[in-house]
Parts: sequence; C-alpha cells; structure tokens
Amino acid sequence: MSENKFSLDRRQFLGFGAVAAGAAAFGLAGCSPKTSDAKAADSSSKGSTSSAGNPAASGELTWLGAEPAIADADVKETVEADVVVVGCGLAGVAAARAAGEEGAQVVVFEKAEGPQCRSGEFAVINGDLEARWGRDTFDADQIVDHHMDECSYKTKRSIMSKWARHGAEVFNWYIGAKEDLYICDATRSEVPDEGAASYLIPIFQPLPEAYDWTKEEHPVYPTSVELLPSQAPVLEANMEKAVSESDVTPFYGYFVEKLIMEDGRCTGCYARNAKDGSYVKATAKKGVILATGDYASNTDILGYYCPEVVENGIQEMFPNVDVEGNPTNTGDGLKLGAWVDAAIQQHHAPMIHHMGGGADISGEGVMGIAGFLQLDKHGKRFMNEDVPGQQVENQIELLKDKTSYQIWDGAWKDELQYMPAGHGVACYYDESLPKNNETYRNYKSQAKLDAAVAEGRCFKADTLEELFDQIGDIDKEAALASVARYNELAHAGKDEDFGKVSSRLFALETPPYYAVAMEPALMLVCLGGLASDEDAHVYSNAGDVIPGLYAAGNIQGDRFAVQYPISLKGVSHSMALYYGYVAGKNAVQQV
Ligand SMILES: Cc1cc2nc3c(=O)[nH]c(=O)nc-3n(C[C@H](O)[C@H](O)[C@H](O)COP(=O)(O)OP(=O)(O)OC[C@H]3O[C@@H](n4cnc5c(N)ncnc54)[C@H](O)[C@@H]3O)c2cc1C
Repeated sequence: MSENKFSLDRRQFLGFGAVAAGAAAFGLAGCSPKTSDAKAADSSSKGSTSSAGNPAASGELTWLGAEPAIADADVKETVEADVVVVGCGLAGVAAARAAGEEGAQVVVFEKAEGPQCRSGEFAVINGDLEARWGRDTFDADQIVDHHMDECSYKTKRSIMSKWARHGAEVFNWYIGAKEDLYICDATRSEVPDEGAASYLIPIFQPLPEAYDWTKEEHPVYPTSVELLPSQAPVLEANMEKAVSESDVTPFYGYFVEKLIMEDGRCTGCYARNAKDGSYVKATAKKGVILATGDYASNTDILGYYCPEVVENGIQEMFPNVDVEGNPTNTGDGLKLGAWVDAAIQQHHAPMIHHMGGGADISGEGVMGIAGFLQLDKHGKRFMNEDVPGQQVENQIELLKDKTSYQIWDGAWKDELQYMPAGHGVACYYDESLPKNNETYRNYKSQAKLDAAVAEGRCFKADTLEELFDQIGDIDKEAALASVARYNELAHAGKDEDFGKVSSRLFALETPPYYAVAMEPALMLVCLGGLASDEDAHVYSNAGDVIPGLYAAGNIQGDRFAVQYPISLKGVSHSMALYYGYVAGKNAVQQV
C-alpha cells in the first residue's frame, strides 16, 4: 500500500467515523446526520461581529431580526385551547400528555412531520426502577452539587434539585405508556425477540468490580438507563396515549412564528401551515408552553453565544428535520421568547463530549476514551488522560493541530477493568454477543479490535517504532521518548508529570501496540435557553415571571452552563422529560 493511498484511506475512515461515531453512539445508525457548514458558520459570525465589536458584550441581539407582522387576513383558522404546546420533542410530548391528563384541552404545534427524538439515555436518580438493580440510595444533593460545580454555579440549583428528587417518578410515568417495554436485568442481558423492538437496559450494571465512584476525582454516577434500540417507540406511545385518552390535538407541519401577548400575559400564538402558507391563530386560556429544543443549527445564534465552537470548527450532528427539510433546532424558541421580552440565560453549554477515535460504521470508538496514553503530533504527552469526555474534548481542542493519538498495548484486556465506568469509556472486556443486545459501547472484544485494524481505523504494530512509522504525522523520536518517560512513571507508580492515578498508569511494553487518532468530537446540541425556574416559568428582562408562558426541554434556561456535564449520563433527556411534565401540570393549574 503506497503512503498516499494509505493516508487517503485513513482520512476517509476518520472523517466518516467521526460522524458515524456520534450517530451510532447515540442510537442514530441509519439516519443521515446533518452537519453544519463550519465555513458558513465562521463567515456568518464574523459578518455579524466585525462592524460592532462583540455584539454579545453590548447586549444587542444581532441574530434576532424583526418579529413577523401577521395580519388577521392571513389567518385561515382559529383554534381555542386551554394549553398550547410549541414543539413535539420529548419535552413537548411530556407537556401535552401531562396537561391532557389534567382534563385540559391541548393543542400541539410541531414543524416536523411528527414527534421527534434521538438516542435514549436517561439519568434516573433513585426510585422503584433503580431499586430493581439496588441503585436507589444515591444522595441527590451530592449529585446536584456536583452538577452545579461542573456548570460553574451559573445554573439554578432549584431546577436541578427538584428534578433530582422527583425525576424518577416521571420517568416511570413516561415508560408506563409503553406497556410491552422489556426491562433487562443487566446491561448486557439477552433480550427475547418480543422485546427487541423496545427494551430498557441499566447502564453499568454490574459495575466493573474495581470501580468505586465515591473515590473518583471525576465520578460518574451509575444511575442511568437507556431505551434501545431508540426511545422512539416509547415517545410515540406517550403521544398516542395523550391523543387517544385525552383532548390533545397535534398539528404537524406547522411553524409557530409569533406569540400573542395581551396585557403582559401570553395568550396564544400564530402558526404557519407549511402546506399553503396560511396561519392558524391559537388562543390559550391557561398557558403556552415553549418546547422548541435548542439552536445549534442556527449559526448566527451559535456564533453569538458560543463563538469558540465556531472558531474551533466544531461540526454539528443533529438528525431531525422539519417538513421543509431544515434542521429542527434553529432557536425558534429563543426568538419567540426574545420578541416578548423574555430574558436569555448567560454562559451557554455546547454538548461536545469525546467518545473515542477510529469509530466504525456503526459509530463505536475503538477504545472509547479509556485513559490510555495520549500524545500530540509533536510526540508530547499533554494531559491527564483519565478524565471524562467533555474534558478530553477540551484538552484536544487546545492542541495546535487539534489531534492526538491514543496508544495502548497487548495488555489491554486485563487493563480495561481498571478504567472508570464513564460515558464512552472502554471499561469491560467481553467477547460475548448477547441475543438482541449485542453492542454496548463500554464493552470491547478482540473481535471488535481486529475489525478496527482490518478496516484501517486503528494502527497496529509489533514495535512502537513501527507504530509511529505507520501513524506518519507524529514526531517519532519525541514519541518514543514520551513512551519511555511514561513507562518510567508507570513503574514508579506515580505520575509526576500529569497526576494520573497509578491504577490507570499502564506501561506500554507488551506487543502488539495500537493507536487511534483523536480529533475534535461533534456537537450534539447547544444548551442555553430562556431564564426559568423550577416551575418552568419564563422570566422577563426585568426579572419578573411572564404570566401564561412556560418553557421545557432545551429552551428552558438555567439548567446547564459553560459545558455539558457528563457525570450523569442522560441528564439532558431526563430534565427535558421532567420539566415538560411540570410545565404541562403547571400551565393547567396556572401555577
Ligand atoms: C445525536 C444526539 C444524541 C443525543 N443523545 C443524548 C443522550 O444520550 N442523552 C441525553 O440526555 N441527551 C442526548 N441528546 C440531547 C437530547 O436529545 C436533547 O437535549 C433533548 O432531546 C431535547 O429535547 P427537547 O424536547 O427540548 O427538544 P427537541 O427534541 O429538539 O424537540 C423540539 C421540537 O420542537 C419543534 N419546534 C422547534 N421550533 C418550532 C416552531 N417554531 N414551531 C413548531 N415546532 C417547533 C422541533 O421541530 C422539535 O421537534 C442527544 C442529542 C443529539 C443531537
């Protein structure tokens, strides 16, 4: 194989794998992910900032534009409801069902062709479900404090805390709509054929014996579950239940473009029917719930709140599209809110956690982010590799070339058991293939590794010299010196250079040797919404509750800030679900 041919193949694999990695890791294999055009994003943000300096600093919402003027002549239909829900993702479905169960007349507008979701991880703290696995004794306050710390205390503790105490009940309510959901005893239990279309696993059950989260510098709480093969059947069952058992009417293919305010209260909205461009005017006697998701596909808003994401060329991976073929997460809720003087939180949190390099077509990174040695292209070690995925991503983004190489050796099968049970970490060695439940990304086998090597996604060599020759674009002499130093630290049992715990400091001296390239990960969503509280209220710029207006899901602000913490797998889904439920109940009761 010529050098050129090899490097072309490798780039192709890495490029494809990077997209697929996110896709499969989040249950999206088979969907075609939309990626934002980084160049467009770059020029868009520069265009908006060049003349006026940093627009965010002035407070001017340069991305907002004028609120549409919708004339009554454009209104073809008027509908009356108690509660109007804008958006039919996880939060919107929960809101609609919760409000409907209170006897309310509910109208739901959704710009896609039906309910939307992705992936299926949920954090569930304590409660009946977790008790099945003996995982119901967590100290919710400790978890909440950790979340607050990870978000630099820029979020509201009351929001996190209420969810942590009551989210488990609402998760039971959610899965209760899917009566034939199969619940596994362990992460890799066999699943009977009748359960294969919709089943639930406890993640990290059983935990690796060596893992004690109470002693970890970066604990990951083993209190998450996953709906597989995706949560779509459960979400759809909830919507069906809402529509069939209560007065909930969905309008699919309708774009809400404007909220209606009367005497300072939100009393409805205008929605455009994509089929003919006409408008529906919906009045809400009790409340309007915004459940419109995030804004990561709107490069003007992204460049305004998270310029570093644009500057670092981070690509987005978001699969859902509206009936006009555009991504659904375009920040409509931020605009709708801002036009009626709703405040927007500061310090937004892009969700960009690394899941490992050299992903296969189904998206699984070869060794995930297991804390093996990483070297940059200069052959230098640059980090304590034993950190969660968001932190791995942050460290790689700091590199000049934004690329590192994760390197391990033939002793990996014994070493994985000492890795942390963390999001995207390889921490189990297992050659088995449980029926209908074959893949789970924390589990690694020789078969998977051999496939990665055969497909050119992973380097393999009998000596370190050969390994670095194969990689090619790494300073070989410096890399060899770095490995020698790393081995010295491993033998001494103390990482004097970067402080990695000795139990995960493994000398590289057992051939064969392996390596994968680690490049920046994909952004999934960008979390930053309307100023809110534990009742899902929306606040004005003056700091007052806007009567009649509620927010849930990614449009609800003050839940995540600065970065997305990955110590609680599935916390984003879980909070979207919980506050959708809260918003639905509160809107009906006009809390
Ligand atoms: C690939 C991927 C994998 C993920 N995996 C996980 C995971 O494992 N765990 C986790 O916790 N989180 C995960 N997330 C994040 C998680 O999916 C979201 O945070 C969560 O689903 C948000 O739910 P939501 O209801 O707020 O928004 P959405 O699900 O985005 O729903 C919003 C809905 O509102 C509609 N809408 C928007 N504007 C309008 C309008 N003007 N008029 C009418 N309708 C409108 C949209 O079409 C959309 O259907 C992942 C995200 C991605 C992209």
